[in-house]
Amino acid sequence: MTMRVGIGFDIHRLVKGRPLILGAVKIPSPKGALAHSDGDALLHALCDALLGAMGERDMGTYFPDKDPEYQNAPSSLFIRETMKKVRAKKLCVLNADAVIVIEKPKLQPFIDAIRREISKLLSTKNVSVKAKTHEKLGDIGRGNAVSCMAVVCLGKNASRKA
Ligand code: MG
Repeated sequence: MTMRVGIGFDIHRLVKGRPLILGAVKIPSPKGALAHSDGDALLHALCDALLGAMGERDMGTYFPDKDPEYQNAPSSLFIRETMKKVRAKKLCVLNADAVIVIEKPKLQPFIDAIRREISKLLSTKNVSVKAKTHEKLGDIGRGNAVSCMAVVCLGKNASRKA
């Protein structure tokens, strides 16, 4: 059985007056991600993990942050476009696992909603999302940034002929 694993990472500064969106879920917070798009670091990490699993280049290659089309764009767009590549290669997501590192707010109340959104985007029930603080260390620990790590595993889509 063909299996391909990919890893992704992202980090965004957190500033006042921007929305905090993680896994396509809006999280109430006085600070949000500074970014050209909506700054969804979790979906960006997952997008890079999908691309990595396919042996493709990083998401900036396909979705440049200078492109006006992507200004304040919902990051679900990047995942949807990347999933088209996954399906074109007759692959599917077997599972996805991710870690969000943010000092505050606490994300536990939102984890189930985030998992549901990612499940829909990646067409798999096998999604895990964990939230960690950075133990008050460094810029993330001071609440000035959010970072995310993600791993995805792709397999041959059994419902399609190779
Ligand atoms: Mg990003």
